[in-house]
Amino acid sequence: MSSLPTGSAGRSWAIQEVSRRTPRIFDYPKDKDGNAKKISEIYGSNTFTGKAMRDKLPKNVYVKLQETIKRGAKLDKSLATEIAHAVKEWAIENGATHFCHWFQPQTGLTAEKHDAFITYDDEGSVMERFSGSQLIQSEPDASSFPSGGMRATFEARGYTAWDPSSPIFLAEDPNGKTLCIPSVFISYHSHALDNKTPLLRSMEVLNQSALKVLKLFGSHAERVVPTLGAEQEYFLIDYAFYTLRPDLISAGRTLIGAKPPKGQELEDHYFGSIKDRVQSFMQEVEYELYKLGVPIKTRHNEVAPSQFETAPIFEEANIAADHNQMTMEMLRSVARRHNLALLLHEKPFAGINGSGKHNNWALSDDKGNNLLEPGKTPSQNLQFLVFLAASLKAVHKRAGILRASIAGSGNDHRLGANEAPPAIISAFLGEQLTDILDRIERGEASNQSSEERLIALGISQLPDIARDYTDRNRTSPFAFTGNKFEFRAVASSATVSIPMAYLNAAVAEALDELSCSLGQKVDSGVEFNKAVLEVLREAIIETKNVRFEGNGYSQEWVDEAARRGLLNLAKTPEALAQMVEPSSLEFFEKSGVFTKEEVEARYHVNLERYIKDIEIEVHALKDMVRSMVLPAAYQQQENLASSIIKLKDVLGEKYSTTQTKELVNIASAINRLQESLDSLSHISESAESMEDLPAKAAFYASDIMPAMGIIRDISDYLEEVIADDLWPLPKYREMLFLS
Ligand code: ADP
Ligand code: MG
Repeated sequence: MSSLPTGSAGRSWAIQEVSRRTPRIFDYPKDKDGNAKKISEIYGSNTFTGKAMRDKLPKNVYVKLQETIKRGAKLDKSLATEIAHAVKEWAIENGATHFCHWFQPQTGLTAEKHDAFITYDDEGSVMERFSGSQLIQSEPDASSFPSGGMRATFEARGYTAWDPSSPIFLAEDPNGKTLCIPSVFISYHSHALDNKTPLLRSMEVLNQSALKVLKLFGSHAERVVPTLGAEQEYFLIDYAFYTLRPDLISAGRTLIGAKPPKGQELEDHYFGSIKDRVQSFMQEVEYELYKLGVPIKTRHNEVAPSQFETAPIFEEANIAADHNQMTMEMLRSVARRHNLALLLHEKPFAGINGSGKHNNWALSDDKGNNLLEPGKTPSQNLQFLVFLAASLKAVHKRAGILRASIAGSGNDHRLGANEAPPAIISAFLGEQLTDILDRIERGEASNQSSEERLIALGISQLPDIARDYTDRNRTSPFAFTGNKFEFRAVASSATVSIPMAYLNAAVAEALDELSCSLGQKVDSGVEFNKAVLEVLREAIIETKNVRFEGNGYSQEWVDEAARRGLLNLAKTPEALAQMVEPSSLEFFEKSGVFTKEEVEARYHVNLERYIKDIEIEVHALKDMVRSMVLPAAYQQQENLASSIIKLKDVLGEKYSTTQTKELVNIASAINRLQESLDSLSHISESAESMEDLPAKAAFYASDIMPAMGIIRDISDYLEEVIADDLWPLPKYREMLFLS
């Protein structure tokens, strides 16, 4: 077998490969007339929901299971056997041979351990079986998942438990199907080891707090859920280029790479050919996700070259979170089929916009009312303003943990880099709402009757807001967009469960505070509307500092935020430290989302992850520079030196001065590069022995990252001066514009 060319020959091989690529045609199901089937005919065909459930389950079991799902209630265990039987029948009819509990450990990825449906019957022959207890619970070997020291080695077991609120689905691979049971992952002492458990807990807490407020407004709602629509950004590059970039393979981002010269972004030129390939990629991703019941709605090109976005229709946060995990995995596996590599990293290319995941978040009651949607009557609008105020209070009081919820080595390159929301957490409301809040704050019209006052404050006209949100502020990390908030600072590769869990819990806390003081006022005889306005006024004054309507990318905002005393935590270690502040620990514990031990364990897992990410980058960078950049530079040096010697032989000194200068530049860059590599090795060795995790992480941010930056600068200079045919690594202009 001939091996693939390496070095600069590898790069030319990749460019040739890319120039020959054509869009992949896949088998989209057709109807009898040969037309593509409607999405609604394919949708959810690989999920055990709706029709599959009705067909397979006895009526009474079906009804009880639906109740469980709708109310978020606990599953009656006596139903498990019948449900398991029905699920097995359905799965086997659809070609599944194995089942697994599908869960979300703190790696940010999903995990699964497959078991075949087989067992022995009484005669010793193999038969298919799937019991109620297998459906409900499983015991994966938990010892190799991050726990932050939560499980002592002698107690390395954890178990997964079915989450009936998220649909069971069939995962397809080229050789078969696996039944996947969405599950939580907990230790034997019920500590959360995963990302789904805190989200579910936060949803329950929020449900209780929101219902209390709704009750005061006379609502008969029985359940409130947070809704989430996660817009997912990503990059695609050709797989041939990817295979030649050790940094992308191991770290997910380019650690070196000179920026393409300005004006070289011939987007329409190169984009013409990329479009078809990417379009057919997107169509295949969507087809696969439709079968899994993921409601993908939008696809489009993003700002940066080779950057794209996909967005679903919003769903209950827990289901949306599962679906976002499935979307990320599907993007990756379908990309491979199209000879593309998916880059989910927050900053794969320096100097070019990075990727985020905009979390559109609102609250919905069980009648389908969006609680962040301005209503039609003054009273509905007062209720809307209470939920709006709760969101502001949450962002104001819990800015620290919200910042922690989006922290990670990748997002550090993005937040505050003048292209993404800054690391300062603030909220944007838009002109109209700001005006109303200002008027309530000033206590305008306070001597009028309650009804007149509502009219005077403009509260009777609120529905206009939904239509008038054109002045969207893209620089705000947390922006109100008509009937939802958009948490824009979330990392593109991260799970949405954590930022959503912290946000839900913070809003629940705020709702409790609001309903408590509202209740007190009403009990002491204040008329209801008046009491609401007073409570709103207090909340508006309290949270004023966290509202910002201007340009979040500007230096003025950084200065202003400092004056206001807002946190500006640029780097992950300081952001994560917010989790274990005494007030945060108390908050987490009181909310019921985490125990103190769970937060501390999670803090460790996150710090370890941050350190590991950078350690991997350090290794990859050193390898690449030593084995790829320096050899090319030596060759360039040698070519130039021989050329100068020959030139002098023929023409004497006179014509060789500029070339000698160039040689000096290259030789000195090589020298500096070697010295910087030594210095990086030295610093990272000294870090290895550090035992205090927070101090170690802080050292990685303050010393190791800058040392890597120096190496990058020199390497990028060399990339620009070394002969193109000697350079082994695919260049930015090729990866971004040729794929
Ligand atoms: P843009 O890119 O302009 O922000 P998109 O249409 O791409 O807007 O994305 C908006 C996202 O917000 C979609 O996923 C949509 O389903 C979601 N969304 C709309 N209403 C709600 C809601 N009430 N709760 C949560 N998400 C919502
Ligand atoms: Mg958006």
